[in-house]
Amino acid sequence: MKPVNSLLSATGTTVFTVMSALAVQHGAINLGQGFPDTDGPADVLAAAADALADGRNQYPPLTGVPELRQAVAAANARFYGLQIDPASEVVVTSGATEAITACLMALLDPGDEVVLIEPLYDTYVPVVRMLGAVPRIVRLTPPKWELPRAELAAAFGPRTKAMMLNTPMNPTGKVFTAAELAFIGDLLVRHDAYAVCDEVYEHLTYDGWRHIPLMSLPGLRERCLRIGSAGKTFSLTGWKVGYVSADKSLAAVVAKAHQNLTFTTPPNLQRAVAVGLAKEDGYFTAIADGLQAKRDRLAAGLAGLGLGVLPAQGSYFITADFAPLGFAGDDVAFCRHITEAARVAAIPVSAFYDGADAPRHYARFAFCKQEAVLDEAVARLARHFGAAKLTEAG
Ligand code: PMP
Ligand code: GLN
Repeated sequence: MKPVNSLLSATGTTVFTVMSALAVQHGAINLGQGFPDTDGPADVLAAAADALADGRNQYPPLTGVPELRQAVAAANARFYGLQIDPASEVVVTSGATEAITACLMALLDPGDEVVLIEPLYDTYVPVVRMLGAVPRIVRLTPPKWELPRAELAAAFGPRTKAMMLNTPMNPTGKVFTAAELAFIGDLLVRHDAYAVCDEVYEHLTYDGWRHIPLMSLPGLRERCLRIGSAGKTFSLTGWKVGYVSADKSLAAVVAKAHQNLTFTTPPNLQRAVAVGLAKEDGYFTAIADGLQAKRDRLAAGLAGLGLGVLPAQGSYFITADFAPLGFAGDDVAFCRHITEAARVAAIPVSAFYDGADAPRHYARFAFCKQEAVLDEAVARLARHFGAAKLTEAG
């Protein structure tokens, strides 16, 4: 038989699926894959259920139902002062995952270079490579995750077509500052490049940090494709409703990619997300406040066990240095070990690095869980580390 696609056959199963399966196998509390353990807002759920029963279950329009495109445009204006035309500058996708692929498809030709920042979400690099484009990766390193400006500037060149930017960032919890965004924006303009902006955690920022879309900076509106996800904004990760906001010249091409990927996204979910995006400001501040308290609770618990918890200004995640525990293995071994022996799952941070020599003593813990679940996870880790003499991989 002829070989199947070489890139995909060489790609492993995503770490999120691997760790969630291991968590189920061992009855572990899953602080690995990032998903909340409570449902999203009741009015949004009710809107989805109602929309199933009112006879609009056939293919919706290619770029999304008008209600949702209008709601995305209104949210852009309300939160960021961005003027987006709902008819021509919004494309609704089946999750941000599809949006990322669609945006990269819309921009890239084989041989184009794409600047990415490591640690990175696991779909970025495989999709860039599938499209025949060339990743140019710049690395952030813990504990500060500072943007290495000179290295970033050096990664741009005459073949740079685009950059991928994720803020608030998974897994670091970093929220890029206005100064960092201005630096990036300057590089984009100087090199005539686009930015695919993965902003799925846009509403999940803490301690007074505010998310700033790169697209909202002067001169960058025409260069940015801004991606949001209802999964994160409404704690409904299984719904897979994403949205791209981009200048009409770009959105039209993203729509062509979407037409070849999924063509449309379930209309009842789209209509319910439109209800969600129209919720009052209090909803958006409450979800961030609630998650901030959960972050603090888990961070305090892990720090109490001796882990070196790094600050996180946004997202669902904190990263923690487990070296102080004296564990003898790397992060993959540590995450397997705690899943199996302490029955708490986490994600090895090295999984977010494409290159060699990734940091090997950090684990990512999701805090988007009920307080009692976070407390039980910390109690399990405390019992385990109090009782166990650590050895490689348990
Ligand atoms: N980007 C990042 C950084 C994420 O963490 C996630 C989480 N799933 C996604 C994209 C994908 O979002 P969605 O579930 O809407 O496809
Ligand atoms: N974004 C989620 C995380 O980082 C996982 C999504 C997925 O399982 N692909 O945990």
